[in-house]
Amino acid sequence: MSTITELSRSLNGARVLVTGGASGMGRATARVFASEGARVAVTDRDGDSAGRVAMEIREAGFQAQSWTLDVSDAAAIEAITAEVAEAFGGLDIIINNAGVSGFTAISSSADDYEATWHTSLSILLTAQQRLVRAALPHLRHSDHPRIVNIASTEALGATAENSAYAAAKAGVTGLTRALAVELGKEGITVNCICPGPIDTGMTARIADEHKAIFARRRTALRRYGAPEEVAHMTVSLCLPAASYITGAVIPVDGGLMARNA
Ligand code: NAD
Repeated sequence: MSTITELSRSLNGARVLVTGGASGMGRATARVFASEGARVAVTDRDGDSAGRVAMEIREAGFQAQSWTLDVSDAAAIEAITAEVAEAFGGLDIIINNAGVSGFTAISSSADDYEATWHTSLSILLTAQQRLVRAALPHLRHSDHPRIVNIASTEALGATAENSAYAAAKAGVTGLTRALAVELGKEGITVNCICPGPIDTGMTARIADEHKAIFARRRTALRRYGAPEEVAHMTVSLCLPAASYITGAVIPVDGGLMARNA
């Protein structure tokens, strides 16, 4: 029987595609995968920043390449997934991480609300199924195929004026469970992480003092999380040690959803 330590040393050479890899949790995830020996495709609509992340990974002695990929572009998802698979000689793991926030009240003008709804659904939800479909032919040839979708605690308990984002993220949890059931017979695991409040580009415009008050009042750990704390769970779900975990919706939220008072 293998030890957990042995099982954990097995991402060597794994071929990974991360969306939204230029910043925050995507960047942290790319770095953690690479430091475990994986070959990482850092993709983002901001191709220059993705290039810088890939460069910093290579400068640390690990393997990464970057691609410009706007996940709201269906054709680009197909084309870039094919390019990455060709460059890496296959694909073992995809991380559906790219995202934007979209606070808009339901009583906003129809145009504003519809625009937010469309953007949120397109980037946060539709793109995830498209990447899965583009990657499937390659994942089917992998020894340890893994899919991790990033949702949010907004899928589990929502904030006011965030209904488009919450609906899209709840969709990610449903997509995850349904794909886990559908792809389980092929040995492909599909899991979903619901981050709570994490210090990233997305939350950078919130003043530190407001973050501290929110975290003290609402989380069990009384602090915002670091992007690496989510990345570690994402990478763990891709280890052989996680071979019997699929269809799981896992909060990584400092106890936000557990806390009642
Ligand atoms: P971030 O802003 O630091 O990073 C998001 C990245 O996604 C950026 O590099 C951005 O350029 C990229 N991106 C945005 N739209 C894109 C598109 N159309 N195509 C390709 N790339 C695109 O934010 P983050 O917090 O690291 O977000 C990562 C994921 O985590 C998102 O799905 C977000 O919804 C989710 N999330 C974040 C928090 C939080 O508190 N930060 C909480 C829960 C869930």
